[in-house]
Amino acid sequence: MAHLLQSDILLLFLLLSLHVIIIAQENESNIIRPPSSLYAGKHPSSWPSSSGYFRFGFYPQGNEYAVGIWLVGRSENTTVWTANRDDPPVSSNATLEFTTQGILHLRTEDGMEKIIANLARSVSVDSASMLDTGNFVLYQNRTVVWESFNFPTDTILGGQNLSGSHNQLISSVSRSNHSSGSYLLRMQDDGNLVAYANNPAEVDPSDAYWDTGTDGWYFSVLNLNERGVLAMYSSPKFHQENVLANLSATGNETMIIYRATLDPDGNFRLYSHQLESNTNSHKWQILNDVCDAKGQCGLNSYCSSRGKDAECYCYPGFTFIDENSKSLGCSQNFTIDGCVARKDLVIHYNITTLDNMYWAGDPYSAKPNLEKEDCMKACQEDCSCGGVLYSDRKSCRMYRLPLKYGKRHGNITTTAFIKCILGSTISPPPETSQILISEGNQSLILTMGLGLGSVTSLCFVIAICSFLLYRHRLQNYKKLLENKSSVLTEQFTLRSFTFDELDEATHGFQDELGKGSFGTVYKGILPGDGKSKTIAVKRLEKVNEGETDQIRTEMTVIGRTNHRNLVRLLGFCVEGSRKLLVYEYLGNGSLANFLFNMNKRSVWKERARIALDVAKGILYLHEECEGCIIHCNLKPHNILLDDSLTAKISDFGLAKLLRPNQTCSTPRTKGTAWYSAPEWQSSGLVSVKVDVYSFGVILLEIICCRSNIEVQVSSADEILLSTWVYSCFIGGELNKLVVGEEEVDMKMVERFVKVGLWCIQDDPNLRPPMKNVILMLEGTMTIPVPPSPSLLL
Ligand code: ATP
Repeated sequence: MAHLLQSDILLLFLLLSLHVIIIAQENESNIIRPPSSLYAGKHPSSWPSSSGYFRFGFYPQGNEYAVGIWLVGRSENTTVWTANRDDPPVSSNATLEFTTQGILHLRTEDGMEKIIANLARSVSVDSASMLDTGNFVLYQNRTVVWESFNFPTDTILGGQNLSGSHNQLISSVSRSNHSSGSYLLRMQDDGNLVAYANNPAEVDPSDAYWDTGTDGWYFSVLNLNERGVLAMYSSPKFHQENVLANLSATGNETMIIYRATLDPDGNFRLYSHQLESNTNSHKWQILNDVCDAKGQCGLNSYCSSRGKDAECYCYPGFTFIDENSKSLGCSQNFTIDGCVARKDLVIHYNITTLDNMYWAGDPYSAKPNLEKEDCMKACQEDCSCGGVLYSDRKSCRMYRLPLKYGKRHGNITTTAFIKCILGSTISPPPETSQILISEGNQSLILTMGLGLGSVTSLCFVIAICSFLLYRHRLQNYKKLLENKSSVLTEQFTLRSFTFDELDEATHGFQDELGKGSFGTVYKGILPGDGKSKTIAVKRLEKVNEGETDQIRTEMTVIGRTNHRNLVRLLGFCVEGSRKLLVYEYLGNGSLANFLFNMNKRSVWKERARIALDVAKGILYLHEECEGCIIHCNLKPHNILLDDSLTAKISDFGLAKLLRPNQTCSTPRTKGTAWYSAPEWQSSGLVSVKVDVYSFGVILLEIICCRSNIEVQVSSADEILLSTWVYSCFIGGELNKLVVGEEEVDMKMVERFVKVGLWCIQDDPNLRPPMKNVILMLEGTMTIPVPPSPSLLL
């Protein structure tokens, strides 16, 4: 922590810049009054500040134009703010109109109007001004009612804050394209200033690459002042200060403009612009190595810095997905699907060593005290292992593919072993050995044969005795299992409840949460040491003796799983005919209820995050847990939401530990048919692609917030969701799917729709595996245009 001092003057300054309504002090000549217009392709295209250093209006982006504010430079302008930055640029026929109703909007060539400044209806704007600070403001009776400083994009200027609901900067794609890029800097509620790789769905702590380490310090504002001091401040009660950079002593301050920008490479830099010489230089930055910003290079590739530039390299055995866009990452030419244990398949690997290597993420296995060779061997022999990080303290950490945020640098001490698949061969079945026997050996063979014969007979007698003994013991053991409900000796984590305990916990099974095919689910409370736990108790009512095995499967399967996006089974009760399952309680009901029964449509960002949660849960079932679990019954009713709206997959009633291409009973539960893949419905043949299909249907429902079949729609085309989504996609009318929603990222909607359409392809071979589904949803894998999902469409 740098300097920490208390300063009432700074506090006053902050209060002023945060809350006080600024009274206009601009000279009259700089006031813009309606009606006034700017034109993208002709004069006037911008309004200057009185000093002329800043301008607001149209600036060129490629061959088109965007609306924003820039610092006027001698050779090059510096954009410091962009309106509606993720909208496509506009043509030279676009105009910006400041109307007599006090509305500032952009009118595109095709007549569409886009609001630049969103204001409450009651506010009536009467003038505007481009201030010398770089702040564009709107006035009502000379009082500021809207200012660009409150909506920072990638830059803060002297006098500007990051705080409250405007607490983050998002980098631009590049210096010439100011749409949202790959990095995010957030002044967090916990007092920490953190830089993250900008994950489109949600910000994950594992995406962070720099922070001030000040969580718990009550800092809530990041401020850059006009004298070049970049500092964090606490709420008024504590008024603490943490100076990150101070350029105030370096020159004639009146002739300098300061700006702090989260640059496209993820580095947060403080710049000073000398107005006299019109020069621009950066004075301070958070990263010294550009490769420290996570995500410079895509999956399965690593970053190595060359001076100021980051270079991306594929790991050995991998090639770039797109040579022209290396940030998309690399893929292997040869893959083995899902680590299938085929005895006849011999996979040939090569292990390559890379020194000074590191990548992020949690290893799936970590072994201490292993020699280098043993560590390499462990990876070579483990089908799941894609790479290992080996430290000089002999720790061997094994990772699955894809490898994320790789970095190579001389000061990194870990060594990586990368496993690359060279190919596979099918091993021939062992041939019957032929022994040629010569006549001279016949008597010897006869003697040996007799000897062997008597030994074999003796073994046979012993084997029969052992079998009888074993059968007797097995029967005793089974009886013991029946009586003691101890079917689950292998699931040590599951608790066995008595019926009375659960009766008490649920107050006599009164608070009903819902009914499913197997019975009713009740809410209950388990008393604990000082902390009670809310539970959901599924009372299996319609289970006949034959189905007890099904329950055991459910318990065995769920008991072995542990993932953020799966509902946790806590225990069970089997007392004669009474069979109950005890789950963690999820307070926000099912996804079905969330999507279809709410009066209000939920926000897009929330739905997008839920979709990714569900995908991650399915990936875990398919590829990451012990064995391959095919859910077989995925539907929004089986996806539950916890208090923070994290989606968790539930109901493993039909789940089975299956190898691909086995059969399992066709859907029998209510409202399931349209989530079931066609090949499963017709032949009962299941593979992981059955779940991918169900996920596709659920994904389209999440995007559109409606059920797959709906009859109360405006046209017949809209009845079946997949048909409608496909026709909107082909017709370039995806906005119809999210009509009336605010803050929708249409690029993301397009990505999600494409993934959904690939998942619901009739041909299971065309459906992507869940790993790719996630990469595509996250935007790290390019998505080809999907064909019509069904031959019928
Ligand atoms: P089916 O058994 O046919 O798949 P289902 O999934 O709706 O249907 P259940 O799993 O028995 O059947 O759940 C019935 C309802 O109980 C759910 O819709 C949900 O609202 C509620 N419920 C189930 N488990 C929990 C839980 N762990 N926490 C909170 N509510 C739950």
